[in-house]
Amino acid sequence: VNNQNFYHTYSEYLVKKYGEKIYKLPINLPITCPNRLESSGCTFCSDCGTGFEALESFKSVTAQLEENKAYISKKYKAKKFIAYFQNYTNTFMPLEDFKLYMLEAAAYPDIVEISISTRPDCINLEYLQVLKSIREKYQKEITIELGLQTVNYHTLEKINRGHDLAQFIDSVLKTHSFGFTICTHVILNLPYDDDLDALETCKVLSALPIQIIKIHSLYIAKNTWLSKEYERGTISICTKDEYLHRLVNFVEFLRPDIVIERLFSRVPEEDAVFSNWGISWWKLQDEFIQMMTDRHSYQGIYFNYLNGSALNKLPFN
Ligand code: SF4
Repeated sequence: VNNQNFYHTYSEYLVKKYGEKIYKLPINLPITCPNRLESSGCTFCSDCGTGFEALESFKSVTAQLEENKAYISKKYKAKKFIAYFQNYTNTFMPLEDFKLYMLEAAAYPDIVEISISTRPDCINLEYLQVLKSIREKYQKEITIELGLQTVNYHTLEKINRGHDLAQFIDSVLKTHSFGFTICTHVILNLPYDDDLDALETCKVLSALPIQIIKIHSLYIAKNTWLSKEYERGTISICTKDEYLHRLVNFVEFLRPDIVIERLFSRVPEEDAVFSNWGISWWKLQDEFIQMMTDRHSYQGIYFNYLNGSALNKLPFN
């Protein structure tokens, strides 16, 4: 089955944009996250942040790119790459340090894009200006990855995100004003969210100038706040079937041009107390595709709720 028949895939997007397959080279900087400094961080955040496969952060950007490139080029015969600043909050550092890291990545051969993962409360016009000058000087595309997880601001508080929905919207609008690509991360089965929260997340993101979405299923790593709550039985997580229905609904209502980079978390099960209901992500993906097939469905089939949609109900309009 070709997934492109059902949703706008990331691999297809990259091939269209760059004319060939592109691979991400993760970079792990010796940094942290303001949310971990000020408090215990997001309740699902593990000690290693989000970079389960990242290289040691003491290595230089060039050394990490070199090492990852050697491995990936050999494995996939890859020629062009994205420098992916993945772990923690990659704009939470003095502006000068940020500039040096970005310049090092931009100057590395065969990098077509720099992708920077950060938090909505850690990006402002000065940092965006640095990236703009790098784009102009080195002709590199820039993508900003913003964690949001849900538009339910009560849930954002409960999971201790340390930012609210307004800050997310502000960061999206500012980043978009520079013409950078925006990727947003969401989790569709946070314990405090229901089907309606997931759907509203889809609708708000469809109304904003966002180009890519990474959908995650909740992953509860060992030794996190959430793992303690899970073990105590004070939170409950929706079933696999409920998640799949939420996911199908999300994709059906999503703006058709938004690229979907992933549909489920893909992290090592051995570090988790809960991960994908004990089922591999590719099996879940097969189930999702089967559901879309059975419903004769595709991304954006119900994308009809924006742009003054009630006006369509007027007679003779
Ligand atoms: S924003 Fe990311 S790195 Fe920071 S506490 Fe939350 S999950 Fe951890």
